[in-house]
Order: sequence, then C-alpha cells, then structure tokens
Amino acid sequence: MAIQVKLLDHTRDPIRTLYVAYRTAYSSLTPMQIDRRIEDGRISREKMAAFIDKRLETGHASPLEQVWFEIGISGVSRAFSHQFVRHRIGISFEQQSQRYVKFKDAKFPFTVPKSVERAGMAGKMEAAFAQLGSLYQELLDAGVPAEDARFLLPNAASTNFKIVVNFQELLHICDLRLCTRAQWEFRRVASMMRAEVHRRFPELGKYLQPKCGELRAGYCDEDYEAWEACPIGRKRPHKRDLFTLFDSYRKGELIPLDDADFKLIEREETAVP
Ligand SMILES: Cc1cc2nc3c(=O)[nH]c(=O)nc-3n(C[C@H](O)[C@H](O)[C@H](O)COP(=O)(O)OP(=O)(O)OC[C@H]3O[C@@H](n4cnc5c(N)ncnc54)[C@H](O)[C@@H]3O)c2cc1C
Repeated sequence: MAIQVKLLDHTRDPIRTLYVAYRTAYSSLTPMQIDRRIEDGRISREKMAAFIDKRLETGHASPLEQVWFEIGISGVSRAFSHQFVRHRIGISFEQQSQRYVKFKDAKFPFTVPKSVERAGMAGKMEAAFAQLGSLYQELLDAGVPAEDARFLLPNAASTNFKIVVNFQELLHICDLRLCTRAQWEFRRVASMMRAEVHRRFPELGKYLQPKCGELRAGYCDEDYEAWEACPIGRKRPHKRDLFTLFDSYRKGELIPLDDADFKLIEREETAVP
C-alpha cells in the first residue's frame, strides 16, 4: 500500500505568527502594534523571515508552539503507528479505528517491506495475510465483533491518520525520525511531512532536518558505532570527537600551528575557494 502525506491546513500565516510572537518578547511594542506594522507594509516578509532565522539560532523555542500544521497520512502500517503515537507533546492524533471500521471481503490492506521482497519472501507473506483475511471474515460472519476479530491482524495492516502538530514538535519528530537510525517507514513519513511543509513554507521547512543537520545540533549524538555506520556520518562530527577536541583545547594540547603552516598561509596559491 502506498503511503500518502498531505498538508491539509495550517496556521494562516506561520511567518507572521512567529514574527509577532518573537517580537512581542523583544520589543516595547504591543503585539497589536507589531501586527499593524505588518498590515501596513512597514515590516516586509524578508525582514520577518530574517528575524525568525536569528531567533532560531537561540534556544528560544516557545513561539514555535504557536504554529500548527494539520496533516493527513494514509497507507501506513500499524508497525509505524505504534511508534508514531509515542510522541505525546504538541501533537494530536486521530487514527482509523479497527473497532469501528471492518475490513471487507476477507481482505485488509497491508505493507510488505522491501527487505521481505529482496529476500524473495513477499509471496509467502502475502499468502499468510490472505489466510488471515479469510479467517478474519469468518470470525465477523460468526458474529465476533470487529474489536475482537482484529486480534488476528498483523503489524503490516494499514491505517490512516489525521494529525495536528505544532512546529516545535515537528522539529523534534524530524530530529529523531529523519535520523538514519530510525525505522524506514517512519523516515519515509517524516521525509514526506518535511516535503509538504517545505513546499508551502520553505523558510520553515528548511529547519526540518535530522538532529545532526546543520540547522539543528550539527553533530551526531548516537553511539560511535552507529555514527561510523551512518551513510551521512562522514559529513557530521560525532559528539565524542567534539568532546575530545574541546578537552584538548582546554588542556592546551592542540597541535600548535608552526612555521611551516604560516609559510603555507603566506603562499599565494593557498587560498581555498
Ligand atoms: C531510533 C529510536 C528507537 C526507539 N526504540 C524504542 C524502543 O526500543 N522501545 C521503546 O519503548 N521506545 C523506543 N523509542 C521511542 C522513544 O523512547 C520515545 O518514546 C519516542 O521517540 C517519543 O519521543 P519523546 O519521548 O521525545 O516524546 P515527545 O512527545 O515527542 O516529546 C517531546 C519532548 O518533550 C519531552 N517530554 C515529553 N513528555 C515528557 C514528560 N512527561 N516529562 C518530561 N519531558 C517530557 C521529551 O523529552 C521531548 O524532548 C525509540 C525511538 C527512536 C527514535
């Protein structure tokens, strides 16, 4: 089953909302006065976006909670949904029910992971699901309520979501779930949510990165072996290396620049583009 993700609705103008929230904190003007200055064109969108960028370099994150996104997600597995609903702050879920929605005609939609296909086992998995579908139908036909017949359904069974998530929590979800350590389906959904927000609001979408992104922490805080195995690890320092570097600096143990280095610096052809 193909995953679909769509931004259905959002805070009317997130850039304006963020600007008014941040400016209120740092200005003698009231939020109403700030809003009026935006309304009459005294504050341009570029100025608002630049101000927000500066604020986002700091840890002042509470204004991000004032921006929300309403997102529809379909064709995801219950294996994904178990993980998704573990996020508990700044996000509200509505999920298709297996109590009120009965699958029809002895069939339920499901996901077969690529790894199962690569192992040449997709046919066997699908056959097992077909059998489960038949038994599920038999139970329903025998009068078993859907809430009990669903005990047969596997993690692969599909489900749908309608969520509302604020920007702060979406950043946090992307920190964790765009990381290459996260499960593939969650990485796919997080990437699709990122693409949807980016399509509509590139000024905000650019911040939706894994936690090692240059606009997030900028380094990897996973274990060293995971960092070594990560395909993008070579672009990011591991926290252990940062601490080692800091420790060397503090103890005055950094390799000193010597005459040879300064000769290199003086050379005309040394300039790095
Ligand atoms: C790669 C990966 C592997 C995982 N493996 C497992 C696993 O094996 N088993 C398992 O059970 N779970 C696992 N999880 C789930 C994980 O433990 C969290 O439950 C999940 O990521 C939800 O994130 P969160 O706790 O940051 O919640 P969110 O709701 O997204 O939290 C947002 C922020 O609020 C803070 N916060 C939320 N609630 C509280 C609170 N009550 N008190 C104080 N601060 C709070 C959080 O610290 C976080 O900073 C895994 C997650 C990942 C990304």
